[in-house]
Amino acid sequence: MNDKLKELADLMFPNVTKTIADYEKMYPERNLKEGARVTRFAPSPTGFVHMGSLLSAYEDYKAAKDTDGIFYLRIEDTDQKRSVENGISGILNDLKNFDIVPDEGMIGETESIGEYGPYIQSERQEIYHTFAKDLVLRGLAYPCFCTSHELDETREIQELNKERIGYYGSFAKCRSLTVDEAIQKIKNGEEFVVRLKSPGNFNNKIMLHDEVRGDIEFPENDLDIVLIKSTDKLPTYHFAHLVDDHLMHTTHVMRGEEWIASFPIHDQLFEIFGFAKPKYCHLGLVMKIDENGTRRKLSKRKDPEASVEFYHQQGVPIEAVKLYLLTIANSNFEEWLDNNPNTDTSEFKLDFKKMSASGSLFDVSKLFNISKNYLSRQTATTIYNNLLKWALEFDQEFATILKNNQEFAIKVFNIERENPKPRKDYLSYSDIKNHVWYMFDEYFHDLTYDFQKVNTKEEITNILTTYLNNYLDLSDKDIWFNKIKEMCDTLGYASNMKDYKKNPENYKGNVADVSTVLRVALTTKTNTPDLYEIMNLLGEDKIKERFTKCLNNLD
Ligand code: GLU
Repeated sequence: MNDKLKELADLMFPNVTKTIADYEKMYPERNLKEGARVTRFAPSPTGFVHMGSLLSAYEDYKAAKDTDGIFYLRIEDTDQKRSVENGISGILNDLKNFDIVPDEGMIGETESIGEYGPYIQSERQEIYHTFAKDLVLRGLAYPCFCTSHELDETREIQELNKERIGYYGSFAKCRSLTVDEAIQKIKNGEEFVVRLKSPGNFNNKIMLHDEVRGDIEFPENDLDIVLIKSTDKLPTYHFAHLVDDHLMHTTHVMRGEEWIASFPIHDQLFEIFGFAKPKYCHLGLVMKIDENGTRRKLSKRKDPEASVEFYHQQGVPIEAVKLYLLTIANSNFEEWLDNNPNTDTSEFKLDFKKMSASGSLFDVSKLFNISKNYLSRQTATTIYNNLLKWALEFDQEFATILKNNQEFAIKVFNIERENPKPRKDYLSYSDIKNHVWYMFDEYFHDLTYDFQKVNTKEEITNILTTYLNNYLDLSDKDIWFNKIKEMCDTLGYASNMKDYKKNPENYKGNVADVSTVLRVALTTKTNTPDLYEIMNLLGEDKIKERFTKCLNNLD
């Protein structure tokens, strides 16, 4: 070993006592079945995830689960500016709300599980330093003493001469310092960062493979990028990614497309160390079409639907959100879901080739549509339980009504449900009240009746009083309906639609118009689920009471 380099490396990293081989021994390959993927979600501790990062976390999770692999949570806190207090708990909570529970990694602000930790980068400093020291010893990294002022100057010169920006070639001043000069500067107490001595040539072309985008051609990296920052001696993302994903045996690095430009740097780092390279999946951005019809990135700031809290508050079932995430993750998922509506989504396997390279469009109305279909397939009891949970948090009054009327409420939710073609009217838990409020007396006040064709006081009174006096027997749907028809004949309405269509002028209206009067009088609404079921649930006394209330309201 070159003694001078050793002296330099020891000066730069006086506390390093281990070698890369020591760490490799500490973190052996996991004992997983062939083809099992090891993936990670690696956010900064910002306290929350938004829909874009939730999607990537879910893709990471799913990619691992599809193969009985490992999904772990690594916290990347080397950029202290992006850290907030209790930033990990918030992320864990958001993930847990969507059943995304890591197999390994951080499980709290300071606690973790798994054999490959620490899973938080600020606690891995000694490891990064060991890897960086190895490069210095091999003459592949060096201390750089350039001040930010000097770096600015270099940049200005590059801009002026229309040259490529960056620290490379002849612009990489400290690259040409002799080892002795570097040693002297450190001894003098000069601040330094650690830079890679890139072996690359920008004029060489390399081909890198991305699992989503296929082969991509890049110029080879020749930037002497910073590996260890001077201020806090923490690594940059580039270096931390290499060290962590190597020691944690990540098989698939799934990350945002903003990292594509750095792909050649990462490839080069893996080459230099001779480590097995993970597969890379650069995920497209989550986009939205805004009011002006332009495609733009979904924005945490501008778009309420970008926050996961929005779905919680709206009461969109997390299963529906997850179904939607899969539809934007993989273009073939929707078709799969249509063909397998009752199959657990764990049976669907994520296909990197079916991911969108150009970015996926986030369409909240489509998400609500999925939610609507999802809710239509749930039993009335499930709806009741989940709605109550939602209401306890967001609508206490409704929660109390639900608790006091459990059996009745479940029957209400069961109208036109639990059959092969269930009614699809609930968009989310927060939307259910809009569809059922009139069934609960507590809400049945301050009413506006939506009468349609038959809307005169005289006719409405006629229909309601005739009904009240003769037709309260609800024991059988056919008998009941025949009686309504009988009432139509008595009152001058067509009981048969065909007859009505032939000679509408002979009638005041038809059986549908009469039913509408009954429906509106009972519920105020024109459009409700099955009238007979509603009447049956309300029962004779309430029907009387509501018809009387309506009659009084006609004045
Ligand atoms: N902390 C990086 C980010 O949030 C992680 C990128 C990666 O997954 O490698 O963008």
